[in-house]
Amino acid sequence: MRPMPTPPPHLLVIEDEQDIAALLHLHLSDLPATVKVIPDGRSGLAAALGEPFDAIVLDLRLPGLSGLDICRELRARGHRVPLLMLTARAAELDRVLGLELGADDYVTKPFSVLELKARVRALLRRAAPPVAPIDAPSQLACAELNIDRARRRAWLGTQELVLTPREFDLLWHFMGHPGRAFTRAELLEQVWGYGHDGYDHTVNSHINRLRAKLGDDRSESRFIHTVWGIGYRFEWVEAP
Ligand code: CA
Repeated sequence: MRPMPTPPPHLLVIEDEQDIAALLHLHLSDLPATVKVIPDGRSGLAAALGEPFDAIVLDLRLPGLSGLDICRELRARGHRVPLLMLTARAAELDRVLGLELGADDYVTKPFSVLELKARVRALLRRAAPPVAPIDAPSQLACAELNIDRARRRAWLGTQELVLTPREFDLLWHFMGHPGRAFTRAELLEQVWGYGHDGYDHTVNSHINRLRAKLGDDRSESRFIHTVWGIGYRFEWVEAP
């Protein structure tokens, strides 16, 4: 019996600049994928809420609602769809990272089509249900924290955590190596998995967001600890 063919991923592009939108449509269709293009923020958010997409590529500056507003709104409603933000200037990057709004990745304009396609492919790969080796654990627990890789869900006590795909991968990686200190470069290589040269602040920003979701704060972390001069370590430490 032949397996059912898997449908290509369905992507949403929210971009108001017509030539960039056309370029994205052309090249992302080629992944292959089905691509829907929406030119403004409000309709873009409505589409993202109304239809299941496998990933969304959105511009930061949009008429109606900004890309930031859309990210924030989707995450606030518990949507886990992978989001890739396009920013016009490197300076805007700080804003995106500073707001820790829940985008999984970002690309600065002007971008290379090849790189953008590679990033979208990586987002889709991470969001796809992972095929784990038979003997690999699919669930891990640490104190009141539980994570299920097969279902891509995590709980703190009875409360389900709303994690982006990257935050999920980061938490899974940490929980699989309790007590081990990782440098930011190691985390970039092992969790992000592609060339993010020198983007230590990417790691910091995701760790801060994950910590907040785990109820950790910088001075009294129970799960993710800063290892001075090295990076981070995951280990359960009871609050004093
Ligand atoms: Ca724009």
